[in-house]
Formats: sequence, structure tokens, C-alpha cells
Amino acid sequence: MSKPEKPQRFASACPHDCPSTCAVEVEVHADGRIGRIHGTRDNDYTAGVICAKVARYSERLHHPDRLTKPLRRTGPKGSGQFEEISWEEALQDISEKFLEAEKKHGPQTVWPYFFAGTMGLVQRDSINRLRNAKSYSGMYQTFCTNMAWTGYIAGTGKLAGPDPREMALADTVVVWGTNPVATQVNVMTHAIKARKTRKAKIVVIDVYKTETMKQADIGLVLKPGSDAALACAVMHVLFRDGYADRAYMEKYADVPAELEEHLKTRSPEWASEITGLTVEQIEEFAKLVGETKKTYFRLGYGFTRQRNGVVSMHAASCIAVVGGHYQYEGGGAFHNNGAIFGLNMAMVEAHSLHDSSIRKLDMSQVGRILTGDKEALMDGPPITAMLIQNTNPVSVAPEQTLVKEALPAKTCSSWFMSNS
Ligand code: SF4
Repeated sequence: MSKPEKPQRFASACPHDCPSTCAVEVEVHADGRIGRIHGTRDNDYTAGVICAKVARYSERLHHPDRLTKPLRRTGPKGSGQFEEISWEEALQDISEKFLEAEKKHGPQTVWPYFFAGTMGLVQRDSINRLRNAKSYSGMYQTFCTNMAWTGYIAGTGKLAGPDPREMALADTVVVWGTNPVATQVNVMTHAIKARKTRKAKIVVIDVYKTETMKQADIGLVLKPGSDAALACAVMHVLFRDGYADRAYMEKYADVPAELEEHLKTRSPEWASEITGLTVEQIEEFAKLVGETKKTYFRLGYGFTRQRNGVVSMHAASCIAVVGGHYQYEGGGAFHNNGAIFGLNMAMVEAHSLHDSSIRKLDMSQVGRILTGDKEALMDGPPITAMLIQNTNPVSVAPEQTLVKEALPAKTCSSWFMSNS
């Protein structure tokens, strides 16, 4: 019996909505099916390690239940009754319904709605080409990014921070508002390397005892939405106990004297009431950060899950400014390095066709928007047609009951389309 042919390996990148963007090698069998996926060894961020879900991506890609053809709902909402139709029929029907809706209420009645189920500039963002070409309603991407990005950029001016590989050179790694053991395994690769080679301490801050926290030297479970109070108390201690790097702030911060004044009353006792942490826990953490110049703050997307996420992220990122940690390799506050690539999205999104007078709706308010809330609709026409791509608002948008009720009984949204 002849041996089965060895699969070929091809270089690619992980398509998931995960900040790592791992470099991967994909096994492809002679019949075109993919096999195991491996982390690329010679990419020094991925370092040969990827998460279990993507290593077994073939099970998902080739799963018999995966949608590969358009389905049209035939029964009432929630009945689960669908019929398979051709792509031609699906595209024809959808475009006719969009034109019908547009005739009644104008183009802004159509709302392309998407997020990051599958990444890639074309896969994800080219829906905006359609939006711009047709002058459909715009969308604020308020899932996952706005709060954290705004808070971080308010301090740095740019969505960029110290290279995440520097985590391996840190003496303390603070994993704050993220659970990398479950969702971004590479953070652990570099943090554990720092622990093994430099005896670095790992601090984990979250609102419950995550799998990552179980591996921490110090775990701080605080009350949801109280991160800014903890950050203020840490900075209070840095100023109070002489850890603040005044020369650094003089050069790179806007108003260090005002900040110090503002923080005078934000003591560990004050923060203890708000965060639920003990005064000793806050003092211990602040002392560690103050004494360890190579402290790397990995600030995650947890900051986007709270109403005050902008100020929380901003306050947490400011600790590294007060302590001057940014100056040291292995130190500083990192959230996302999206800005360093300088991507030009003009072609993908058809920027030349963009009309800035068209309203931009908040995607998190989809429930209110679909139920005709005037404020959420910005006093504009109702939304009567949607193209929902790579996101599941019933699961992820706030006001879930309203969203469920709001999704219409029978409109264009009775389409499910695969992304094959
Ligand atoms: S950690 Fe997993 S999901 Fe994240 S980029 Fe790597 S392979 Fe993809």
C-alpha cells in the first residue's frame, strides 16, 4: 500500500478578530482540504505557538453544518425554517429589496452593518465600498474598539505602543483587562519567557478570576468599571513615594503638576472603596510598578466593556507616563499597534465616493434604531433594510431583548449568507 501524500504547507495569517494576527503555516492536502495549522516558528512574535481553536480550524472550515450556500427563511422568525437558493437568486432578491426600500425612504434607510468575524481588508472592510457608492447610512464601530482606542490615543496621540515582543524583556508584566490564556496565547508566550529568564512578576487585573489570573504572581479582582480608580491610586502612590519620573513628564507629559494635584485625594483608601480591593493590595501593586522600571502594561479590550472605558484606559495608560516606564526596553503601556502599518483604505472602502453629510449610526444602538427611536436614528429615516456581515448583533449588542424583538419578522434580514 502506498503511503498517503504528505500535505504541502503554505504561509498565511490568522483571520480571527484577535490582536495577535499570528503568522501561520497551513497544511493543504492533495484534495484541497486543509489539515492542521501551525504557528510559524521563524516569526518571533508568533514563535511557533497558536491557540487550540485555530490549530484545529479545519474542523470548522470543513464542518458539514457550515453554511456554504445562501439560505432564505421560509417560516416565521425563530422557526429555523430555511430553503437553499442560488447565489444569483439571493443577490437579485437582496438588491431588489434594497432598491424598493430606497425608493420609499431614500438611501439612508439601508444600513450595512458589520464587525470583525473574519478579518482582512477586503473580507471585512469592503462592505464600506457599497455603503459609500450607494450613500447608505454610516456606522460607528462601537463594539470592542471605540472606548479603548479613544482612551489610549488620548494619551499617546497614536494607536501604537511598545513592541509586544518587549514583554519578554520586562521585569513585571501587567495583564490588565484581557484573558490571554483563553484569547491571545502569544501574550503568555512572551510573559512566561520573561518569568523564566528574568524572574519577572506577572500581575493580572480583571473583574473575575480568569484562567490567566490563575498563572499570576499577583491577581487583582476589582469591581467592574472601577479600573480608573485603581490607576489613579497607583499614580497617587508613585507621586507620594518618589517613584514619579518628573524629568520624563516635564519632557513628554502635558500637565504633570495638575495631574499630581488632582491625584492628591485619590489615595489607596479612596480607591479601595470603589474597586473592592484592599488598601494593602493597591499599595503592593503600586510599589511593584514604582520600583520596576521595566514594567510592561498589556492593556486589553476589557476596557471597552464598561461605560467609563475611555477614562479607565486613559488612566491605566498614564501610569507608564508618570513612572517613566516608556523609556525602558521592556517597559511602557501597550494596547494595539494598528497605526504603525499606515494602511491606505481609500481603494478598499471607496473613500472618493464618501459623503460626510450622511448620518453615522451607533452599531451598539441597533435595538433602538430598529424600533424607531428618533434620537438613535439621528432624526433621519427609519432603517428598513440591513446587510449584516460578520457579526451577530443578537448575541453581542447591548439591550439584547430589544434587539431580538427589533429584528424584523420578514425583510431583507431573513437572509443568511455564508462567507465561504
Ligand atoms: S492567538 Fe489564535 S486567534 Fe489569535 S491570532 Fe493567534 S491563532 Fe489567531
